[in-house]
Amino acid sequence: MNSVNHIKISVRNLVSFVFKTGDIINIIRGKNRAVEGTKAHKRVRLMRDEDYQSEVPLKHVVNYNDILIEISGRIDGLYKSDDKVVIEEIKSTYIDIDNENFKYNSLHLAQAKIYAYFYCLENNINSISIQLTYFQIDKEKYKSFFFDIEFKELEDFFNSIMDYFIKHYENYWNWIKIRDASLNKLKFPFDSFRRGQRKLAVGVYRSILNHHKLFVCAPTGIGKTMGTIFPALKAIGEGICSKIFYLTAKNTTSTVVENSLEILRSNGLKLKSIVITAKDKICPMEETNCNPEYCELARGYFDKIDKAILDIFNEDDFNRNIIEKYAYKHKICPFEFSLDLSEWADIVICDYNYAFNPRVQLKRFFYDNYDKYVFLVDEAHNLVDRAREMFSAEINKSKFLELKRKTKDVSNEIFEITKTINSSLIKLRKECKTTENKYLVKDNKPVEIYKLLKTFIGIVEKNLHQVKNEVFFNDLLEQYFETINFIRIYELYSEKYVTYLANSKKDFKVKLMCLDPSENLNKITKRARSCIFFSASLIPIKYFFELLGGDNEDKILLLESPFPKDNFSLLINDTISTKYSKRELYYHEVAKFIKSLITKKTGNYIVFFPSYEYMDKVYEIFADNDSSFDIVKQMKDMQESDRIEFLSLFTPNNERTLLGFAVMGGIFGEGIDLVGDRLNGVIIVGVGLPQLSPEREILRFYYNKFKGNGFHYAYIYPGFNRVIQAAGRLIRTESDRGIILLIDERFTTRVYKKLMPIEWNNHCIVKNTKELEDKVFKFWYK
Ligand code: SF4
Repeated sequence: MNSVNHIKISVRNLVSFVFKTGDIINIIRGKNRAVEGTKAHKRVRLMRDEDYQSEVPLKHVVNYNDILIEISGRIDGLYKSDDKVVIEEIKSTYIDIDNENFKYNSLHLAQAKIYAYFYCLENNINSISIQLTYFQIDKEKYKSFFFDIEFKELEDFFNSIMDYFIKHYENYWNWIKIRDASLNKLKFPFDSFRRGQRKLAVGVYRSILNHHKLFVCAPTGIGKTMGTIFPALKAIGEGICSKIFYLTAKNTTSTVVENSLEILRSNGLKLKSIVITAKDKICPMEETNCNPEYCELARGYFDKIDKAILDIFNEDDFNRNIIEKYAYKHKICPFEFSLDLSEWADIVICDYNYAFNPRVQLKRFFYDNYDKYVFLVDEAHNLVDRAREMFSAEINKSKFLELKRKTKDVSNEIFEITKTINSSLIKLRKECKTTENKYLVKDNKPVEIYKLLKTFIGIVEKNLHQVKNEVFFNDLLEQYFETINFIRIYELYSEKYVTYLANSKKDFKVKLMCLDPSENLNKITKRARSCIFFSASLIPIKYFFELLGGDNEDKILLLESPFPKDNFSLLINDTISTKYSKRELYYHEVAKFIKSLITKKTGNYIVFFPSYEYMDKVYEIFADNDSSFDIVKQMKDMQESDRIEFLSLFTPNNERTLLGFAVMGGIFGEGIDLVGDRLNGVIIVGVGLPQLSPEREILRFYYNKFKGNGFHYAYIYPGFNRVIQAAGRLIRTESDRGIILLIDERFTTRVYKKLMPIEWNNHCIVKNTKELEDKVFKFWYK
């Protein structure tokens, strides 16, 4: 939807909206059909005469109470036969078209009827023919159904569709007027902007207005959430954009956004917001098996959804509780409901995945042009690695072998193709075994495997109904979706990818590994009206600008911390090495420095270590020697409740000092707010380098080749980001005070000094515990 006065909708979407019916089914709905569809169209066209016109655009505008509803689309084919105009609609299928039970889909006919109506109207003709053609992909043959229709029938049909459409959208259009009136009156909800916040808000607004991206490094305390949402909302009120996607790396961030919206609502804002909760979290079933035979919330979903949306539309805040309440009232799946409801919300708060990940992207928004949407990407430093994952895909040999075994004697076609794929993977594994590292990196696509996987998809689609009661059905389905994803990523493959073959005792995998996500991200964000990447640690900004897909016209905004500089003291010890080869030599020394810092003032402290192993070694020293303070340690695989319990121990005015042991880059390394005396000091051991692994090394080689500084791109920058995030746990508000101690000889080298944020310029070097204690004493008591 664009503005309330001018609505644009495609014929396909109009038909899907009005005629949706039936169950949610987790079986194939033509996931691979976009490409196959194009192929089918080409084949059919080749069989037609010279005067056959293809891809004929049509548009029709309906005026409803001064709202212009523009409906557009393209006719697949148009020709004349016996003086009659014939409109052809072409669809691809894997279903056997020669089967006597093969029928046309009424949705396809509806689509063709709308085109036929537009054509008759435009050309002033009274009757027309429709040809509905199904092209069977695997057999390369086709079958057509013919219909002769009078204009009057088409007109009645179209009017009934529009009546239904308008009835359901009328509420929404009325809502938009209310929303925009409130947005136009909306004032910034606080007496004044914080330092740097106005600059941020202006930068965001200008970026939306001027249609470019903005990369913002905004230290804690600026008020990033309000500083980005407020100008984006104003832009909606002015008709510059129509919808905001607030994208988060972790779902804990969504609470902050919801709180900001609550403040704005209490200041008169009328806005529909939605939080999308991940499927596995919101699904109430024991097993997330979206099969109507198993899940009653999947049954008849599409028959019930419109009524449920009309019902929930009285609410403004579509949070998880509200979504669940209405979903259960209407007996529909809460997850699918939230996705459908997102179309009716003005701001969608969701994980990065829903905008960027080709696998779960909300295609309903991002298929066509979406230049009216704004992306606010929070904690954007996380997006580089997340995007690499999203744009990579792998297949595992063990899965095909398993399917081969299970389908033998049940489905010959599936058995044969899984057998061929398995053999082909064995061949690749042999190449791998000859290498010293048990892995192989190739800079070209695995063409042979790709072809086989495409065949696998076709065969699965064709056979799925026959095997739906077999024990291997769910495994087959899972592998089908994995393969679809692999194919999708294969089609994105460029020089920014490598093919990574890795052999282990248990398995062999082929991975299409995205090394540089910039191009893929750029393609997505470029089509939005604007995209704002912001974080306290977009450092070095040029690295993020480049990897997140910045263009020449895009802007950078560096903001200074709004907090007084003397609220914290940054101390660096550079006499200790935390390099892997020397670690053992320094465990006791590290423990001494930690103790020296925390014994000068009773309070709460967290030490961040480079790994669990390192943390355990230092922990043993403390556990053996000291009971004058309490220690709490991060464990592997901590659940959300454990995390909350850990943090709850950090209370102000503890009688005894509390020392938290945590791992850098882990669940306590970012996104935690221990305000005031809940945290008095942070100690960071090491420079945060990611662990050495083949995949990191591949990154290093790649950036060495293209940038000449692979170690920086693969290790130093991501590592230092963890350091900044961990240090950032200390000062959360203007009145927070405390000490940060960095321990590692590398912190005083040129490369690290260059990376340090401006507010770290006043750091002091402490060569021994005596110097440290003096500085600590001075900070707290003088
Ligand atoms: S409720 Fe769960 S199992 Fe049922 S359709 Fe929704 S996600 Fe699938």
